[in-house]
Amino acid sequence: DDQPDPDPSKKTLVILGTGWGSVSLLKKLDTENYNVVVISPRNYFLFTPLLPSCTTGTIEHRSIMEPVRNFLRHKKAAVKFYEAEATKIDYEKRVVYINDDSEIKGDMSQTVVPFDMLVVGVGAENATFGIPGVREHGLFLKEVGDAQAIRKRIMDCCETATFKDQSQDEIKRLLHMVVVGGGPTGVEFAGELQDFFQEDLRKWIPDIAGNFHVTLVEALPNVLPMFSKNLIEYTEKTFKEETISIRTKTMVKNVTDKYIEAESTKPDGSKVLEKIPYGLLVWATGNALRPVVKDLMMQIPAQKDSRRGLAVNEYLVVKGTENVWAVGDCAIANYAPTAQVASQEGAFLARLFNQMAKTEEIETQLLHLSDEQGKVPNGEPRNKIFADIKELQKRLRRVKQMGPFEYSHQGSLAYIGSEKAVADISWMTGNLASGGQLTYLFWRSAYLSMCFSTRNRVLVVMDWIKAKIFGRDVSRE
Ligand code: FAD
Ligand code: NAD
Repeated sequence: DDQPDPDPSKKTLVILGTGWGSVSLLKKLDTENYNVVVISPRNYFLFTPLLPSCTTGTIEHRSIMEPVRNFLRHKKAAVKFYEAEATKIDYEKRVVYINDDSEIKGDMSQTVVPFDMLVVGVGAENATFGIPGVREHGLFLKEVGDAQAIRKRIMDCCETATFKDQSQDEIKRLLHMVVVGGGPTGVEFAGELQDFFQEDLRKWIPDIAGNFHVTLVEALPNVLPMFSKNLIEYTEKTFKEETISIRTKTMVKNVTDKYIEAESTKPDGSKVLEKIPYGLLVWATGNALRPVVKDLMMQIPAQKDSRRGLAVNEYLVVKGTENVWAVGDCAIANYAPTAQVASQEGAFLARLFNQMAKTEEIETQLLHLSDEQGKVPNGEPRNKIFADIKELQKRLRRVKQMGPFEYSHQGSLAYIGSEKAVADISWMTGNLASGGQLTYLFWRSAYLSMCFSTRNRVLVVMDWIKAKIFGRDVSRE
């Protein structure tokens, strides 16, 4: 067996997920202090901020994926990775049930993994609010597979719309691209899609030019609620120029294979229900709890009042537990569910765990020294030990002095199409709100610098150049 057994002198630290939270933890964790086990159905990290660009082929999806094997192999001590889904966490028994749900299964595809310490970083699911038809007919935008499915569907709609003798109504329906949810995901996707049409599709398939239309549907009075008022206005104005329709105060209630039913509130307060035909429906209405998280919450009495995720304390410990931590979208710590928060939380936990290991090491040394102290005679040797103990105690106090997690908001950024972006940046003196083409260059360079690796950075730049020179690839894979 070439897989070393876990070292019995070390604690087993199990980390669930390979997203923003877990990967940022792994990046900074001194793995030699623990038996580290990573479990995730996805053997790569995904740079989600550029995922909307993959739906139109501005960026190829592999350019924003980084295999976990690639960075785990550079860690000081070996880390075990199991490509599997955690189906249940048994808090009492301190085990995680895991399931290999990929296509190829061996003799063993379900098992349990025991833990001493557990980090839950499984992210969130797509919210549908139980609206009928969403899962059957809508497409989400969260994972690589989602972006691929959207890219395929866009092309399918375009090709079907140009099928011989297609009726005018059907052409209109097929080329109506509806995005539900005016948060950043919906806005960025709508912008990317309109770019695709303006820059490539209308040239490659001139027949569709008169009928291709993007509509963004939002239940609230405006889109991008987390941005400042002038940026919301700027976004709405830019969308108008780009000819993307925004339907605010419009709540989708039902989805069928060919139309959505939405209730809109008129200025006089009256409500009307209308059917909106669509060819492509992208559903981006935010996050919901994953079943494995919901199940864990039910096992811990202190979590019974928490609704949106695992309630954590200021050290990201899941309330009501001692040895379970949570990061990212599945944790509720009064911050928005963003990559920025998740990655800072992950980095915080790495520091915490590194320090915990150091504390334990010093405490063991102290125990050993006080033992020694009793054995040596008075005088020089004893004084030396005494001095060592003093020094160690000082170090211990320093190490133990780790403050709680504090989030530092760097700002919000979103691409809104036609080479424009909006940014609310926290500046030394206050806030800076900007929108436009300069912001777009800032957006590009900021996201590029945030990419996981140099490899990713190079691939993304090459994709941008490729799309500029040759146009986006319209083959339907
Ligand atoms: P994720 O990154 O979602 O990772 C969860 C991990 O857990 C995945 O590896 C998943 O495979 C794994 N997993 C799932 N279920 C299980 C299970 N049962 N057992 C084990 N593992 C499991 N935020 C920003 O700050 N800026 C942006 O520009 C931005 N753009 C975005 C664009 C899009 C299209 C989307 C969808 C999100 C964007 N976000 C952005 C939000 C950001 O992606 C999330 O907040 C972030 O991914 C949360 O990190 P996480 O680690 O909690 O979860
Ligand atoms: P969101 O929760 O931010 O927005 C969802 C929107 O859908 C809300 O405005 C809501 O009113 C609307 N909605 C809900 N139900 C509806 C219905 N039935 N009909 C019409 N509209 C409905 O979701 P998101 O955009 O997916 O973002 C999720 C998280 O990821 C957020 O925290 C966001 O900040 C983050 N994110 C950030 C960026 C960025 O910074 N550029 C990009 C993408 C996502």
